[in-house]
Amino acid sequence: MTDTWSTPYWPEGVPHDIEGYNKPLFSILDDAARDYPDHTFTIFNGGTRTFTRVKETADRVANFLAGKGIGKGDRVAIFLPNLPHYPEIYFGILKAGAVCVTCNPLYTAKELNMQLRDSGAKAVFCMDHPEFYPLTVQAIKKTDVATVVVCNVKSYLPFLMGFMGGLLGKIPKAASHEPGHIMYDEMVRNARPEAPAVTIDPMQDLALIIYTGGTTGVPKGASLTHANFVHNVMAAHAWTRIPHEPNGPAENLRKGGYHTYLGVLPWYHSFGMTLVMLWSTYTGSKLVCIPNPRDGDPPFTVVLEAVQKYKTTVMAAVPTIFIAFTNHPLLKNYDLSSLMACGSGGAPLPVEAAKQFEAKTGAIIFEGYGLSETAPLAALNPCNTETRKFGSVGFPVPGTDVKIVDLDTGTTPLPQGEDGEIAISGPQVMAGYWQKPEENEKVFRQIEGRRYFLTGDIGNIDGDGYVTITDRKKDMILVGGFNCYPREVEEVLYEHPAVAIAAVVGLPDPKSGESVRAYVQLKPGETATEEELLAFCKERLAGYKRPRSIEFREALPVSQIGKVLRRVLRDEELKK
Ligand code: AMP
Repeated sequence: MTDTWSTPYWPEGVPHDIEGYNKPLFSILDDAARDYPDHTFTIFNGGTRTFTRVKETADRVANFLAGKGIGKGDRVAIFLPNLPHYPEIYFGILKAGAVCVTCNPLYTAKELNMQLRDSGAKAVFCMDHPEFYPLTVQAIKKTDVATVVVCNVKSYLPFLMGFMGGLLGKIPKAASHEPGHIMYDEMVRNARPEAPAVTIDPMQDLALIIYTGGTTGVPKGASLTHANFVHNVMAAHAWTRIPHEPNGPAENLRKGGYHTYLGVLPWYHSFGMTLVMLWSTYTGSKLVCIPNPRDGDPPFTVVLEAVQKYKTTVMAAVPTIFIAFTNHPLLKNYDLSSLMACGSGGAPLPVEAAKQFEAKTGAIIFEGYGLSETAPLAALNPCNTETRKFGSVGFPVPGTDVKIVDLDTGTTPLPQGEDGEIAISGPQVMAGYWQKPEENEKVFRQIEGRRYFLTGDIGNIDGDGYVTITDRKKDMILVGGFNCYPREVEEVLYEHPAVAIAAVVGLPDPKSGESVRAYVQLKPGETATEEELLAFCKERLAGYKRPRSIEFREALPVSQIGKVLRRVLRDEELKK
C-alpha cells in the first residue's frame, strides 16, 4: 500500500502507519487516570481537578445518562464554552455509549435548535449562566431533548461575567429552572462512579457529530467514529518522534505528563477538541480552561496571564491568535518563556506573522491542516526548525494519503507541483455526513482502490513532499478562525421583507483574517437602511457571522443561469 501513496517522502523517525488505534475514545482518559492518577488535568480560575477525579466524574455522568435510558448510539449535546466540566461530560457521554454533539457556545437559540433537531439529541448539557440557560430552554422547543443538565458555575460567575465582555456590571443571577432540569453537581452527587457496560466497535461506532458547512455550505453533521479520533491524536503525537534539537519542542512534547496545554481554542470544534483537549488527555498533561466569550473580542490579557501564571508549554491556535499575541501592546509585560511548541491551523498562517511570533516569544510554530471531516488533522509540519517549511502545512500524518486531483473530475491525480483539489484518505476520515446521503455522494470518491474525501480546498505537493494550501473551492469565510458560510447569512437577509437578493462575501480584515460584507438588492418600492438590516442580522446570527457592512445595489451580478456571482463582488471590492 505504502509505495502507491502520493507522498514518497516521510519525516525520519515517524512511522508510516499507527497501530493500536482500534479502541474506544474514552479509553485515553482511563489510561491517563491509570498512568497519572494524581496529576492535575483541568485548571480553571485557580481550581484544579486530577485525572482520577475527571475519570470518576465521567463515570458518574455515564451512570446518570444510562439511568435516563440514554445508551448506545443516542445523541447528547454539549452547549458549553471551555469549562473544566467539558472533558468530564464529553467522556461521560462516550462511556454511556452515546454520541457527543458539540455545539458552538456562540450560537443563537435558532442555530442551536437546528442542531438539536437535526441530530435528534435526547439530552443537552449547558450552564447556569444568564446567556446560556434561557437560550437553551428556548432552543429545546420542538426537539427530542428530555433531559437538561445545568452546570453550576455560580462560584465562577464573577470571572465568567467579567470575561464575557459587555456583561460586566450586571448582577449574576442563577437561572430559575424548569421542572425536570437538573443541576450538574446534584447529578454527579447522586450518580454512582460506575459507567454502564457498553460494547463499542471503535471502527464503526460513532463518537461525535460535529456540525460544519463542509464544502457546500449546507450545515451538516460530520459523523466521526471512536477510531477516527484515537488515530488522529496518536498520529499527531507520532510527530514527536521526528529527530529533534536537544531539548527542542519535539523532545519535550514526547515526554508524557509534564506539559501544560493552553485551552484557548474552543473544544466544540475538532481543532481544539483533538489537538488540545484530547492530546492533553492522551499525554497526561495539564489543560488550562479558557472559556470563549459570547460576544465581542476576548480580553487578550486573560490569555497572556494564563500563559504566564500556569507556565503553559503547548498552544494550538488559529493564525489570528498568533497575530493578536504579536501585536498586543502589553506583550512585553508578560513572561511567556514557558511556551515551547505551538501548532497553527484552521486558516493559512502568514509567514511574517509566524516569524514575528517566534521572535517575540521564543516558541516554535509548526503549521498543520485539517477539517472537521478528518477529526481534524490530515497534514502537519515537522516540529523542528530544520525541516518544517513555512507557508506549507507539512506532510500527511501517519496512515494518511493526500492526493491532488483534477478540480472537475475529482478523481484524476495531478502531477507533482500542480494545483488541484486536495483529497484525503486515512483512518481519520469521517464515516459520512449525518443522514445526508446526497452530501456524501458529493465528497467521497474511489481512487486507486482507496476511499478519498474531497476537501474543497485547493493545493499542491512540492518536490520534497510538502503539501501547500493555495485556495478554497468553496466560498467559506474564515472570521477569526470560525467558519462563516455566505449562504447562511444570505438566508437570514432573505427573511427580511424588503430584501430581494442578497450576496455575502469575505473581505480581508487585519484583525480577524476575514470579515463579512453583504450586498443587497431591495424589492421594488421597498426601503431599508443599513442599520436596520444589521440589527436584523444581530438578532439572528452569532457575532462572527454578522456582516460588518451592507451595500445596496440596483442589481447584483448574476451568471447565465441566475446564480449571484459572489466572486465578482469580492473582486470589485478588492480592486477599490
Ligand atoms: P473546519 O472544518 O472548520 O475545521 O474547517 C476546515 C477548513 O479550514 C479547511 O477546509 C480549510 O479551508 C481551512 N484550513 C484548515 N487548516 C488550514 C491551513 N493550515 N491553511 C489554510 N486553510 C486551512
